Amino acid sequence: MSDSKSNVRSGRFAGVDSTVALICAIGLCAFLFLVGAGWAVYGNTRSLTNAANWVEHTQEVLTALRRVSLLVERIEYRSSLYLSTKNEEQLARARASENQLETTLVHVKFLVSDNAQQLAALGRLETCTHQLSVSMAGFTLQSPMPADALKECYEATGVMLDQEQWLLDQRSKGSERSNVLFLSSQFAFVGLCLLALVALFIFLVRDALRRSKTEQDIANANTKLAETVRALEDRASETQLMTTARDELQLCQSVDQVYVAAARSLGLLLEGTNGSLSMINNSRHVVEVVSTWQGNDAAGTAIDFHPLDACCGLRSGQSRWRTPGVSEIHCTHFKGDPPERYLCKPISAHGNTLGVLCVVCANDAQEALVNARVDALRQMLQLTGMAVATLNLRMKLENQSIRDHLTGLFNRHFMQISLEREISRASRRRQTLAVFMLDLDHFKVFNDTFGHAAGDAVLKAAAEVFVSSVRAEDVACRYGGEEFTIILPDMSPEIAMQRAESIRRAVERLRVPIGRDQTAEVTVSIGIAMYPADGETGDALLHRADLGLYAAKRQGRNRVIAQREDQPSLA
Ligand code: GH3
Ligand code: MG
Ligand code: MG
Repeated sequence: MSDSKSNVRSGRFAGVDSTVALICAIGLCAFLFLVGAGWAVYGNTRSLTNAANWVEHTQEVLTALRRVSLLVERIEYRSSLYLSTKNEEQLARARASENQLETTLVHVKFLVSDNAQQLAALGRLETCTHQLSVSMAGFTLQSPMPADALKECYEATGVMLDQEQWLLDQRSKGSERSNVLFLSSQFAFVGLCLLALVALFIFLVRDALRRSKTEQDIANANTKLAETVRALEDRASETQLMTTARDELQLCQSVDQVYVAAARSLGLLLEGTNGSLSMINNSRHVVEVVSTWQGNDAAGTAIDFHPLDACCGLRSGQSRWRTPGVSEIHCTHFKGDPPERYLCKPISAHGNTLGVLCVVCANDAQEALVNARVDALRQMLQLTGMAVATLNLRMKLENQSIRDHLTGLFNRHFMQISLEREISRASRRRQTLAVFMLDLDHFKVFNDTFGHAAGDAVLKAAAEVFVSSVRAEDVACRYGGEEFTIILPDMSPEIAMQRAESIRRAVERLRVPIGRDQTAEVTVSIGIAMYPADGETGDALLHRADLGLYAAKRQGRNRVIAQREDQPSLA
């Protein structure tokens, strides 16, 4: 578990590391690209500026050379005017132009100082200019025009102008190329910047989408985890409830305790619901509510007794939900209007249907809870059914071990145990106790006359008379054959005598049907012993009661005798 967790964690960190590395790489590339592109733009801008400077420089040289040409023309023009007009002012102007020419040549020399070819041409121009200067210095009306020097000046200036014009063309083209390069690089830079931005945007969008998906996955995983934890907690509490319920049911000593414990556990298991446990009675005609739990205010309480077919679950022999819109047939075991949602689930053990569970839900949530815990509910009902069946079986076996199977009275063994117990209790409470010993009269003759089956019927009828004639706390037993014993705690001799007499009379009145239109009559003889007057042990009391019984037999039967050693027997 921890390994898989750490694997998941390391995988997540590996993912984060690779993303960070990718972002750093992209950032570095973008930085290098921007520096490179910026450097390229800077270089292009510089070369463009240089080209423009060179063009401007060439323009300046051209202007200076044109001025040289203009000054040479002026010298020639003014000199000609002087010769034709003899106007000294024209000569002075021609000499001034010549001075300006020399000054201009100094400027031209400065401008073309980096150009060897132009310097060479300038040398030629300086030479002819010097000749022109010498000519102008000694120029008079008789001097000829310095045609050679002027011609040389024109030619040298023309050579320099051609050269500079050619340079201007070259530099203009270079400047244009630089301009195109500059524009191209600008466009490329802007385009690449846009491309980088788009790439970055795509990456960020992709990262945001991935992050959102991861967050969604984590949220889903958390939800699933929470659901799993809730289910596990629910399962744990269910298991705890089941364990407690099993322990409780195992502790029960009677079915009534089982019913109470089961209802309590079911109320906890199906929290919020109402419900009842109903068991089929011995006649298997009626279902009786034996325990309930109340968790909500929903209407629909089960009635205390109802026939088996009032419950759809019992009729169908299986679990049945009544849900609105699904089933409209209602059970009829509710007081007033039936509830909207309820479950009827038969309870069975060893293949026998013992009863039915009814769960009433107030809402959908409670119905969902019951459905979610249906397995636990089934187990709980199995436990309840098994506990009821086991306790019923135990009760039956206990009854069989302490009761006489023919008459249903307690047997001799139980009588002896009860007698010891009642003597101890009477001793503790300082009470008196009566013991009756009863024997049917001439029963052998009766048996021989009417048969053994008729004798059995009389034995059963006599036993019923005994049970109905004594109190609930009295213990009526079959001692053996047609002999019986009755233990009557907290009984005075007088009342004991009256009670024995009433039994004798009731038996005397008894008419037992033994065949068609034939009834049998029987009488009983009874001997009485009193604790502690006639004895303080069970054997002593039985012996004294037996003495009374024999006395009654001897005296003619159908009578009651309390035989005392110190007094004669009663007739
Ligand atoms: P007495 O008035 O002196 O008591 O005469 P009795 O015939 O009742 O006395 P006895 O003890 O000699 O006879 C008891 C008879 O009870 C013998 C037996 O046939 C009959 N008996 C004992 N147990 C049963 C029984 O479970 N069913 C039937 N039908 N008869 C029984
Ligand atoms: Mg008898
Ligand atoms: Mg007898």
